[in-house]
Amino acid sequence: MNLVLFGSPGSGKGTQAKILQERRGLPQLSTGDMLRAAITAGTELGKRCKAIMDSGDLVPDEVVVGIIAERYDQPDCANGAVFDGFPRTIPQAEALDAMLKNRGRKIDLVIELKVDDAVLLQRVEQRIKESGGVARADDTPETLKNRLAVYYKNTAPLLEYYKKQGKLATVDGMAPIGDVTAAIATVLEKAE
Ligand code: ADP
Repeated sequence: MNLVLFGSPGSGKGTQAKILQERRGLPQLSTGDMLRAAITAGTELGKRCKAIMDSGDLVPDEVVVGIIAERYDQPDCANGAVFDGFPRTIPQAEALDAMLKNRGRKIDLVIELKVDDAVLLQRVEQRIKESGGVARADDTPETLKNRLAVYYKNTAPLLEYYKKQGKLATVDGMAPIGDVTAAIATVLEKAE
């Protein structure tokens, strides 16, 4: 099964993707994690992306499409994967559909975690406090505002894209983590 976890920054995609990975054996493919790993490793790609990510803008589509295709061809994705933070633009979604089609596969379901903007801001403030000063460079209230603006402009249109394909399911991302996990499980059972 190939799933997309969809939602605004801080909506809890990463948390739920990790749980799906543990419980269903579907690898979490997080472009944000992959890009941060490239920055930490000091690769050319990481150097190209750091300033863009720190500002909360999107890195170029071809960069993330390339790293996803490479990652998806690893043997652990034989039974599918959970895409987390990808796709984030219509061209990325089209590239993902094409990539899967080439491999005789498809996106089965897109699960949207719906969270109000005010709650997102609170979550980021909490994450900054808990990190004790070593927060992600893009975890500041100012950058979050830009990440949200980018989300509404570039990423939210994907909701319509997947709705048209009949693949969109929405769960309340403001419920406690365990309740969100249970809501996702219910959606998956219905789809199976
Ligand atoms: P969050 O969902 O918390 O905003 P991510 O870890 O998914 O954070 O992404 C962090 C940053 O990495 C984004 O703000 C963006 O700069 C870059 N990034 C991650 N995924 C993509 C993507 N699919 N397309 C373009 N940029 C991306």
